[in-house]
Amino acid sequence: MKTISIVAPAYNEAANLPALAEAVGALLEKKLLPMGYVGRLLIVNDGSSDDTAQILQQLHSRYPFLDYINLSRNFGKENALLAGIDHADGDAVVIIDSDLQHPLDVIPDMIKCWEDGYDDVYGERLDRGKESWMRRKLSLSYYNLLQRSTPMEILPNVGDFRLLDRRCIRILRELRETQRYNKGLFAWIGFKKKGVPYQTADRTAGKSSFNLRRLIRLSIEGISSTTTAPLRFATWLGIIVSFIAFCYLLIVLCKTIIWGEPVRGYPTILCVILFLGGCQLLALGIIGEYIARIFSESKHRPPYIARDIVKHPSP
Ligand code: UDP
Ligand code: MG
Repeated sequence: MKTISIVAPAYNEAANLPALAEAVGALLEKKLLPMGYVGRLLIVNDGSSDDTAQILQQLHSRYPFLDYINLSRNFGKENALLAGIDHADGDAVVIIDSDLQHPLDVIPDMIKCWEDGYDDVYGERLDRGKESWMRRKLSLSYYNLLQRSTPMEILPNVGDFRLLDRRCIRILRELRETQRYNKGLFAWIGFKKKGVPYQTADRTAGKSSFNLRRLIRLSIEGISSTTTAPLRFATWLGIIVSFIAFCYLLIVLCKTIIWGEPVRGYPTILCVILFLGGCQLLALGIIGEYIARIFSESKHRPPYIARDIVKHPSP
């Protein structure tokens, strides 16, 4: 019998985990078992500060299909997912959120596509739930920008909800970068991909841990880990600004030499200095982002630290 491992990262999800375990239990028994699959659930507790750890302990003794990992602190969803990927041993791995926003009844359809030969079956959001108009627009423009800067296919309404074949999992385990951006990594590994549409549900309890600051951080991470296009942008900015400055210099020279017009210096010089200063700081900032990445990756620290790995003995 083939095994399907369901991996769910959890950060302060104590209120959602009992419902998640129950829903997964029903899915395994009523849908996956009749289809001929054994299912397991692996929850990665990403250094939660609420009762997640105690709840997981209780759920583990209650449900024979539920295993969990406690990370030593909060490493962020991207890294918590790697912990799950490292320790999930099914023939296929399904990644879901712990807040029940991803409908579990899509999983049998994902499995069917997988059996048809697709290695990466991703969920495609039909709508974005209770998201604000602003967040929706910003997110779409961001993915457009990212798409334009890389030849890889970046899909706008696709998140981490997906089924990955063992082959993809083996490769993802080899990518040990600490500053991770899973969406970029899933695109980078390639393989045969197929989308399955789904409707996002609202969070059952608690609130999203991705506030504006965290989303901006993740967006910068997404760009700097996927593409070096901003560095090229800095070069082009330099070339364009130098060209404009040169044209302006010619105009000023002509005006002075041919027409003998006196140069009115102060405001012009101030504007030019401020503009160039801004461009230089922008370019430095862009370079800085990449240097920061080199710095943190060159330390070769592990992307996460597991405090406990609690698994039922394999059947
Ligand atoms: N999550 C995590 N570590 C974090 C933040 C979030 O493991 O530092 C988990 C969280 O428990 C949930 C998933 O990542 O299962 C998605 O998080 P959330 O629901 O807060 O984000 P949103 O759905 O708003 O994008
Ligand atoms: Mg959520």
